Amino acid sequence: MIRALPQSVDLLNEAMFALDGGAMFGIIPKPLWDRTNPGDDRNRIDLACRCLLVRYEDGTNVLVDVGIGTKWSDKDRDIYKICDQDPSLASALGEFGLEPEDIDHVVLTHLHFDHAGGVSYQDDALNVVASFPNATHWLQRKNWGWAHSPSARDGGSYRPVDFDFFEHEGAPHLELVDGPAEILPGIEVFPMNGHTYGMQIVKVRTMRDGTWVHLADLVPTSSHLRDPYVMGYDLQPLITVEEKREVLYHAAREDWWLVFEHDPKIAAGQVEFVDGRPRLRR
Ligand SMILES: [Zn+2]
Repeated sequence: MIRALPQSVDLLNEAMFALDGGAMFGIIPKPLWDRTNPGDDRNRIDLACRCLLVRYEDGTNVLVDVGIGTKWSDKDRDIYKICDQDPSLASALGEFGLEPEDIDHVVLTHLHFDHAGGVSYQDDALNVVASFPNATHWLQRKNWGWAHSPSARDGGSYRPVDFDFFEHEGAPHLELVDGPAEILPGIEVFPMNGHTYGMQIVKVRTMRDGTWVHLADLVPTSSHLRDPYVMGYDLQPLITVEEKREVLYHAAREDWWLVFEHDPKIAAGQVEFVDGRPRLRR
């Protein structure tokens, strides 16, 4: 039973990959986004798969999101430019003296492949098995439902091979959450529905290092802070605008550290509002 707030928060990157720059920036013209996020010869921009490691004094370890995973064909690896990968975050965890078996909880923001692909991998017999076998996995019930019957528009972002194993015998426990909740001391989840149904952002209050918020795809990079910078992938872009405004407003007032899951360079930062517009605090 954990009693205190988390002791520390660290940022880990599971892999680099790339997506179409136009899709990542929605209505924003390329001459604007290309300055901060230059496209390659196939118009793709570099993206990180940034995860949080939250540690408690009593030895409880929590991961928030787990990256893109390794269940990819060579063709898909080429399309998504998957590189610099750290499967199961093993080497990053090793720097903290941890192994995947030491993770007690995995909080999944949503089941899109670039956030949850790393929950499982294929073993030598090609069985899909848990990357973090001892962890309770947390997800919004709404996202679990949507991932199993997504729309034709976003179906490609949910790969059943990533999450079907939860229904196999011996799979780690999946805890489905209904709405906002404090799932562990100091760790709260808040559903956001603009990007996809039942995504959750994750707020972590630490003992000494302030408050951290993993924004998932609400604000995927630090270039997405301003209102119209909404991904073409979002199912309800106007809802994203409202949800983003509200979160950034509180973040600026309360000095939260915001984690940008996909930003290739800026892992985290604080925000301020200048002339009514959010920007990174310098
Ligand atoms: Zn997503």
